[in-house]
Amino acid sequence: MQMDGRARITFCSNDYLGLANHPTLVAALQTGAARWGVGSGAAHLVNGHFEPHAELESLLAQWLSVPRALLLSTGYMANLAVVGGLMGRGDTVIADKLNHASLVDAAKLSGAKLLRYRHADIDDARRQLLRATGVRMILTDGVFSMDGDVAPLAALMALAEEFDAWLVVDDAHGFGVWGDAGRGSLAHLGLTQYLASGGAPEYLLQVGTLGKAFGTAGAFIAGAAQPIDVIMQRARSYVFTTAQPPALAYATLTSLALVQAGDDLRAAWRARVQQFKQALPADWQLMASDTPIQPVLIGDSAAALAASQSLAQAGFWVPAIRPPTVPAGSARLRFTFSAAHTAYDVASLLTALGNLSKVGG
Ligand SMILES: *Cc1c(COP(=O)(O)O)cnc(C)c1O
Repeated sequence: MQMDGRARITFCSNDYLGLANHPTLVAALQTGAARWGVGSGAAHLVNGHFEPHAELESLLAQWLSVPRALLLSTGYMANLAVVGGLMGRGDTVIADKLNHASLVDAAKLSGAKLLRYRHADIDDARRQLLRATGVRMILTDGVFSMDGDVAPLAALMALAEEFDAWLVVDDAHGFGVWGDAGRGSLAHLGLTQYLASGGAPEYLLQVGTLGKAFGTAGAFIAGAAQPIDVIMQRARSYVFTTAQPPALAYATLTSLALVQAGDDLRAAWRARVQQFKQALPADWQLMASDTPIQPVLIGDSAAALAASQSLAQAGFWVPAIRPPTVPAGSARLRFTFSAAHTAYDVASLLTALGNLSKVGG
C-alpha cells in the first residue's frame, strides 16, 4: 500500500487469497456495472433484488450443500439478522467470550438473555445451556478473529443436538481460507459428513462474509429453508436496508469460482505462514494458530504500539491490537498472511523483526 507517499507492505489485511485486486475480479465488477449500473436502488424485498443476487445465493447454497443462502450487505448485519430474526425476549443466546463484537451486539439487540461461556470451554457452554430458557442459540466464531484459533465445532454440534438449540457459526475467517474447495472450518475439521448424506443439519446456520477471502463486500447466511425464510421476513437488518449493488453480487460469482478452484492460493498462504513461524526470532511469542491470523503476544499496550511504529518505520504496516478489542494485558501485533505475499515479503518482515529484537523489542 501507498501510505502518506510511502510504500509499505501490509501484514494486517483479511484479503487472504489476494482476490481484492485480482484482475479477473476487477474485470467482472466492470462488466457487472456496465450491465446493472451501480446502486441497487432499494431493499431486497422492494425492487433491489437482481438476477446476480439470486444466482449468487443459489450457488453459495450449492457450494455448502444447504438448501438456502441469503445475501446481506455486511457481515455485521448478517449477524444482527441471524440472531434478531430467530431470537427474542424470553429466549437465550449462549456465546463464546471471544466472539466477534458483531455477535455480541446481535445478541444484545435481539432482546434475548445473553450467557457467555469461557473461550472454547464446552463444559462451561453446557452449564450455560442448562440455565437457558426459551429458544436456545449457541453463537461462535469459526476461526476467532483476534487469536486465529478454531472453535470446537464437533462438540458444539453435539451440544446443539442434545439441547435442541440453534448453532450459528460465523466463519468470516474460515470460508475460502481452508477446507475442501474453501468450504471453511467445518470442512477443515472434517465435519461435513452430511454433504454425502443429503444435507446439513437443520439446527446449523453458517455466516460468511464476502469482504475477506472473497475480496468483494457483503455477507451471507446459509442453512435450512425454514429459518432462512423467517430471517428474510423478520430480520430488520435485512428488511430495512438497501441491497448490495448487483454488480458486486455479479463480481462475487467470479470470486466464488476462484475460491472453489483456489487450492493453489490456499497453499500459498500456508507456505507464507510456515515460513514466518519457522524463522520468527525466539523472543517473539506466537499464539497457537494454524490460520493466516498469526498474533504475536506483547501484553503491554504501549510496547505493542511502539513495536508497530518501529515496523512502520521499516516499511511494514501491522497495527497494534489493544483492549478493548482484546482482553486487558493481551495487546498484540496481529499479523495476517495472504496468497498475495511473496516469500521475499515475509523474509524482509522477519529481518525487520530480528532488528527490533536487538534493540529490545
Ligand atoms: C469481519 C467480521 C465480521 C463483520 O463482517 P463485515 O462484512 O466486515 O461487516 C463478522 N464476524 C467476524 C468474525 C468478522 O471477523
